[in-house]
Amino acid sequence: MQKILLITGGSRGIGAATALLAAQHGFAVAINYSCNAEAANTVVQQIQTSGGNAIAVQADVAQEDQVVAMFKEVDAKLGRLTALVNNAGVVDVASRVDSITVQRLRRMFDTNVLGSFVCAREAIQRMSTRFGGSGGAIVNVSSIAASLGSAGQYVDYAASKGAIDSFTIGLARELAQEGIRVNAVRPGIIDTHIHASGGQPERAHQLASTVPMQRPGTAQEIAQSIVWLLSDASSYTTGALLDVAGGR
Ligand code: NAD
Repeated sequence: MQKILLITGGSRGIGAATALLAAQHGFAVAINYSCNAEAANTVVQQIQTSGGNAIAVQADVAQEDQVVAMFKEVDAKLGRLTALVNNAGVVDVASRVDSITVQRLRRMFDTNVLGSFVCAREAIQRMSTRFGGSGGAIVNVSSIAASLGSAGQYVDYAASKGAIDSFTIGLARELAQEGIRVNAVRPGIIDTHIHASGGQPERAHQLASTVPMQRPGTAQEIAQSIVWLLSDASSYTTGALLDVAGGR
């Protein structure tokens, strides 16, 4: 039986690298995107060219109705889901806490936390042995910011990832007897477009000296950890928060 994966925010960065690697490992992949259909379709084409099975599915993960519709589309086009990667995430420009607005907080938490929660809920309804599923694996993309706190920069982002860590541990224990493993990967400083979104395009390289390994990580290096957690090679691992951060 082919394994079927949905990855949110899969059109670029860590999401795209994970989609490509998972397809190489035999997963049929639904690549979620919010706005950039062209980028998502490019990843789909790369997978199809290599003989894999992939589709692009649109949804803003912060919108519950769009997420519910997206899961139904995956049911219809690929079949019953066996894996989910909650990867979509946003960061805002660096700011001290006294300048952080409620509007910014809502956008951050709606995407990073609510989006992961609703996607997990929909996935569980398809994977859980309690609902007739065959089990599965969920990987949440957190951040080492959850432990470091991102003082003076993104305390809101760090707090949203802290919520993801707690959510991961709780879900893992709740679902352990239903055939579903739940883990989180916590990247350090990874060279992706997210730093430009946070107003600091050179951030990954500027901070290289703060990393014991003296360099930012690559999206591919995070993808390798995510795909390991999705695979049977990690069959006894659940509730783990795996730092992939060059020692930072
Ligand atoms: P990225 O900006 O390239 O990717 C984020 C993806 O999420 C994009 O494709 C974006 O379109 C998508 N997205 C954002 N809001 C969305 C929404 N509402 N609905 C659907 N998709 C949405 O950056 P990345 O570094 O690849 O980030 C992937 C994940 O890794 C994020 O959760 C991020 O917080 C986490 N992370 C990144 C780093 C890093 O240094 N790059 C470090 C720690 C954690």
